[in-house]
Amino acid sequence: MNQQKQRIFNRIDDNRVAILDRSRLLFDTPELGYREFETGRLIRGWLESWGVPYESVSYTGLQVTLGHGAPVVAVLADMDGLPKKAGAGRIHSCGHSLQISAALALIEVMKDEPLNGTLKVIFTPAEEMIDFEYRQSLVDRGLVKYPSGKQDMIARGVFDDVDAVLSCHASGEPGCRFDVGSTLKGFVIFKAVYQGLGAHAGAAPFAGKNALHAAVLAQTGVAFLKDRFDPRDGVNVQPVISEAAGTVNIVPDHAVVETYVRARTEEALFAAADLVENCLKRCGQALDIETEVTCRPGFLPLSQSGEINALVKENMLLLCGEDQILENLVSGASGDVGDIGALLPTVQFGFTGVSGRFHGDDFAVTNEENACLCPPKILSGTVLDLFEHPVSGRPGFAARKARYLKTWLGE
Ligand SMILES: [Zn+2]
Ligand SMILES: [Zn+2]
Repeated sequence: MNQQKQRIFNRIDDNRVAILDRSRLLFDTPELGYREFETGRLIRGWLESWGVPYESVSYTGLQVTLGHGAPVVAVLADMDGLPKKAGAGRIHSCGHSLQISAALALIEVMKDEPLNGTLKVIFTPAEEMIDFEYRQSLVDRGLVKYPSGKQDMIARGVFDDVDAVLSCHASGEPGCRFDVGSTLKGFVIFKAVYQGLGAHAGAAPFAGKNALHAAVLAQTGVAFLKDRFDPRDGVNVQPVISEAAGTVNIVPDHAVVETYVRARTEEALFAAADLVENCLKRCGQALDIETEVTCRPGFLPLSQSGEINALVKENMLLLCGEDQILENLVSGASGDVGDIGALLPTVQFGFTGVSGRFHGDDFAVTNEENACLCPPKILSGTVLDLFEHPVSGRPGFAARKARYLKTWLGE
């Protein structure tokens, strides 16, 4: 290990008590996306106590810039929590508080280091795709452009000068300490509204048009479609009937089917989405029911930079043996870091040290050594390596971004 890395790792160990205190406080301050006001206040408080300047970005997000010149390496930290399932309240059940904690520990040590490049640490709000009405209200009021924090930041040009992107995420994989090179699926969101005609179900059903029949037919049609998906593409479609009107003696005049379509690659995702969209439309038309299908972008599949992951793994090996690193895990989850990965060389490594179900009320941090102290070491080591050995990924960025905004986000 080189001297600078050794010094940084030692300082992270020396800061142990403060790092764990911050991490616990952040875990106990869960807020939903674009509502991370108290989280932002805490982060600003620590940055101010260190004399580190910051900028606000994307409503509740923040960014810190250290060093100067090329290359520019960005480290991302998600900020949002989730609703609790049982009763009211919120919980950091995706472990995003650990990402904030790692980003702060990184700033705390790197602010005093000589840096051969620029380190941008970006606290990104609103990763979980939930609470959609609230987010749409922010879009309508012009406060954000997009419901996902990273999509909003891409559109605002936050990544326009960035050469490489690093991120990490809590992982529940048993029997390992870290994972590297994992995939994330992409998804699109469909909503099919079926409008029929109400009528007396006994005396004159022939005078009505049953919208629920269209919804049931669409659900069945999508189930039949599943034969068309190659298992290697990991396509998931699980349509639910989210609204249905009517009582037993009135023909239902209104029904709604909602579904995500998920897949491992962009190609498979868009091919599957086309089939599902047609099916949702035509099942309504087949029964002479007025049908409106809308499609919204979710997140793109994450394809990671192998070049950066080789560096990430070298830094993991400073902390553990080869047998404790899981490589190329295929995950069914999705994240808006996938959108960043479609534009720039990007990685998201995983760290264990949590228990319970992700997005469940029993989620907890159980191994603080691994979950709080190791991620900032891997991040700082990889940042230094990227300053020494920059990756080449920027050529064509402007064209990729223009295409992304137009065809994916529909700008
Ligand atoms: Zn999550
Ligand atoms: Zn997450």
